[in-house]
Amino acid sequence: ASRFADVDVAPPIEVFALIAQHNEDPHPNKVNLSVGAYRTDEGKPWVLPVVRTVEAQMATDPTLNHEYLPVAGLPDFRAAAVKLLLGEDNPALVENRVEGVQALGGTGALRLAADFLKIIKQCDNVIMSNPTWENHRMIFKNCGYGNIKQHRYWNAEMKGLDLNGMLEDIKAMPDETVVVLHACAHNPTGVDPTQEQWKKIADICEQKKAYVLMDIAYQGFTSGDIERDSWAVRYFVSRGFELFASQSFSKNFGLYNERVGNLCIVTKDTESKMRVKSQMEIIVRTTWSNPPNYGARIVASVLNNPALYSEWKEHIKTMSDRIRLMRDQLFQKLKMLGTPGKWDHIVHQQGMFSYTGLNTTQVEHLVKKYHIYLLKSGRINMCGLTTSNMDYVANAIHDAVT
Ligand code: PMP
Repeated sequence: ASRFADVDVAPPIEVFALIAQHNEDPHPNKVNLSVGAYRTDEGKPWVLPVVRTVEAQMATDPTLNHEYLPVAGLPDFRAAAVKLLLGEDNPALVENRVEGVQALGGTGALRLAADFLKIIKQCDNVIMSNPTWENHRMIFKNCGYGNIKQHRYWNAEMKGLDLNGMLEDIKAMPDETVVVLHACAHNPTGVDPTQEQWKKIADICEQKKAYVLMDIAYQGFTSGDIERDSWAVRYFVSRGFELFASQSFSKNFGLYNERVGNLCIVTKDTESKMRVKSQMEIIVRTTWSNPPNYGARIVASVLNNPALYSEWKEHIKTMSDRIRLMRDQLFQKLKMLGTPGKWDHIVHQQGMFSYTGLNTTQVEHLVKKYHIYLLKSGRINMCGLTTSNMDYVANAIHDAVT
């Protein structure tokens, strides 16, 4: 008998299982609202034109080769990434107390932060929102955290943020807990704190001496505006927090499978920054040794060139505008149909996802009867919607609810 016969089969990863089901489904009107990636109005993936331009240049650049990158990653990329996040004139940058460590996507950056806080600072307590991106919990679990808690966040009745619940739950944690925060476009709810609410969240984190880990996977992609989407991170930095921020370039550059991410480290002084960076390098060395070049080179080339940078900013506007248009259209359509319930949260939520409030029975109805694939939680990817499937989906939701 195999010595692995006693290994429990892990539960399927819901989002990938749904994508597979959708791909196998022969139904002509099937719709995939589960995937976590941008789609055009034709329902196709979009390679950003500015990315194509840089790729063409890279293909014939004789100075490029396949040598290893430094353990902490491509210097031009890391510098551009932290500048994009904090703003060029940010005092923390000027004072040389910010470092970037390249990672395998936003996931890799989260993993680095979680590992560092566990291994070097012996953290064992972590709190994150309920609900949150399903990977947050698993990452901290696999990093060995013993006390993983979730704080109230989504108020199902109001279809909005339960700020007081959130603050109370963070307050109930021990001092020096790791607090994971979604900097913008909260996944899965699409509900973000207002600036006033962020101030209260920062107060609590300060009181509790929390290790703040900001997850920013949708900068620019959320509102179409770089500054606006990084406001929360910049605000915490302006208050003097030392923090980590995991940056993903998967969505805002459409570089999903290139695994481009960065862990931004902000400390109180240059010396601590160097200390932290040196330990991060050991963690990288034992995890993936050194990061891949291709995607990071593309991002660096765009961010470090003013003309390409403006072109990219147009692209993120194109993507975020299309998502907002789909929100508007779905809302209008449901209103027109007289679908029971209030649906304005669809318009107010931020980012790629909408937490529809559909319950599991309604979700099942959409999958079984209409071949519309979405997560059990009722989360839908707004850019799975197109002008051509909008009526079909709205009518199906109407049918599921009535
Ligand atoms: N954090 C959140 C909240 C996300 O939604 C995602 C992507 N789904 C990530 C991090 C990580 O993205 P990636 O590793 O693909 O860059």
